[in-house]
Amino acid sequence: MKFKHFHPDWTEKAPAPGTFRSIFKYGDPHSFKHPSDNWYEMMKREFHLSDADFLKKQEEGHAPVIMNRPTALTPSQIEQLKAVVGPQNVALDDYSRVKFAYGKTTEEMLELRQGIIREVADVVVHPRDKHDVRKIVEYCNAERIPVTVFSAGSSVNFGCRPAKGGVSLVVSTHMNKLLEVSELNQTARVQPGMYGPAYEEALNRAPELFNTQHRYTCGHFPQSFEYSTVGGWVVTLGSGQASTYYGDAYDIVFSQEYVTPVGTFKTLDFPATATGPKINDIMKGSEGVFGILVEVTMKIFRYMPENRARFSFMYPTWEAAVNASREIMQSEFGKPAIYRISDQEETDRGLKLYGMPGIVDASLALRGFLPMQRCLCLGNVEGDKDYTRLVARKIKRIAHRHGAISLGSYAVRKWEQTRYTEPYMREDLGDYGILIDTLEAGVTWDNLHRLHEGVRALHQRPAGHHVHDARLALLPPGDQPLLHFHRQDDRPRRVSGAPEGDHRQYPEVRRFVKPPPRRRPHDWALDGNAPGQRTNGGPTGIETALRSAQYHEPGRSARIG
Ligand SMILES: Cc1cc2nc3c(=O)[nH]c(=O)nc-3n(C[C@H](O)[C@H](O)[C@H](O)COP(=O)(O)OP(=O)(O)OC[C@H]3O[C@@H](n4cnc5c(N)ncnc54)[C@H](O)[C@@H]3O)c2cc1C
Repeated sequence: MKFKHFHPDWTEKAPAPGTFRSIFKYGDPHSFKHPSDNWYEMMKREFHLSDADFLKKQEEGHAPVIMNRPTALTPSQIEQLKAVVGPQNVALDDYSRVKFAYGKTTEEMLELRQGIIREVADVVVHPRDKHDVRKIVEYCNAERIPVTVFSAGSSVNFGCRPAKGGVSLVVSTHMNKLLEVSELNQTARVQPGMYGPAYEEALNRAPELFNTQHRYTCGHFPQSFEYSTVGGWVVTLGSGQASTYYGDAYDIVFSQEYVTPVGTFKTLDFPATATGPKINDIMKGSEGVFGILVEVTMKIFRYMPENRARFSFMYPTWEAAVNASREIMQSEFGKPAIYRISDQEETDRGLKLYGMPGIVDASLALRGFLPMQRCLCLGNVEGDKDYTRLVARKIKRIAHRHGAISLGSYAVRKWEQTRYTEPYMREDLGDYGILIDTLEAGVTWDNLHRLHEGVRALHQRPAGHHVHDARLALLPPGDQPLLHFHRQDDRPRRVSGAPEGDHRQYPEVRRFVKPPPRRRPHDWALDGNAPGQRTNGGPTGIETALRSAQYHEPGRSARIG
């Protein structure tokens, strides 16, 4: 059914305080990004929906959060926690306990829409500094109270869920300062709860704030940049949009300080040592399972936006785009910062959604860049001026040799405007029962086409319940390809309330990769991070390694049994 001039009534109102919606809504409560008209038409076409399906919203989560679940801690335990951080930094109300127990997985959003509340902490505590964290962990360890850390809560693997109750420790409320910039070492010492934009702005303004000669950038820009924290990046081993050049969170950590149930420690000031395994590396990506990160020293980079060289190309085919990308990465002339190729589906969808003029479309087709074959590549090069010129020139040469045409910088500039805002559409689509999600799978070049083709084939079904497309990004240090799959689904209810179900397991991708794909960023720490708590699914490699290290005897390389 099609109505004249119909537009869905996308929500334009900030969620009321205290409601479920105010917990699951992404980003700024007052900011929205609605699907464009083209996007709306595409959804109707691909999901076989009509305007009538967009007349009534469902499960918007406007109900106030009421839980009626008494805390399992004793009044004396609560008093002890208050004595450490001050009564104003301890919360027992339903809303706080739910808010700080939830991350941003699709499953969590679906549950909150329905007013389903899973595990929550018994109390929420906001430490003021690392000394508070140490005292809380000491106390909780003695009392056997689990602790789960919450920073910005953009976790996409249930990492903030206090699976066994206890304390939700919110590190972003107070522990959010840039403590020091060392121009000599080119590092920044920062508290874990500092949000991306505040960190980047302080580094850009380092001459004014820290009396440095140069301006700096953090180099780490995940899509969740605006609503995630430096500590969150490190403990989830995040990767960002410019990681091909700057490295991902693994590469940019110099040293870390942790509070654990068995004591506090700081790794060496410098990351390179000849004695391994490096504790610095073991702790990165540990999602709080091994301890609580209370300070981190990060590598920083010269901020020189004036040298940025932007590029975009249209390749005739996905094969040509992948081949060119591999050559670019393996030629050793330098690396781009941002580098993305959209596959045939994402390119086609993107061109339609962002409204490419018909004349450009026709001229591309005339030159052999056909719909559902052509692939868009966009990116930039950052760094010193001579470097950015050289790398951009070489990239262009390789792209042309693989049959691409240059589209200039327009597409990149357009992408830059929306690089962090796409997730805002989740709420609009969810209001009408449509799910949108992303999965990343690290892959090797020799398995890339198999994975990509396999997932595509599974989704080319006549029923049209899923829409799938993919994008390729590249990660250091081995310049490993990373495939992002985007999925839209018009049957979210199939998975709601069943978190072990089809959606979470992504069986279609698991069929093609081994080990399993990483779901931004780690699937293995599903049980959260109470000290002493085990990760999901039995001992991991790291647990096994740490346990066997206990049996080490000086003079012997290993001991079995
Ligand atoms: C829309 C969207 C886009 C995203 N895009 C990206 C992306 O491009 N790249 C990417 O890598 N990720 C991405 N993510 C995932 C998420 O943003 C990252 O994992 C981010 O690094 C988490 O940071 P946070 O501050 O929100 O941490 P939280 O979500 O608060 O915590 C994450 C995990 O770390 C633990 N933790 C947090 N702080 C500490 C600490 N100080 N000590 C010990 N444990 C701690 C928590 O218990 C939890 O297990 C995205 C998420 C969303 C919702």
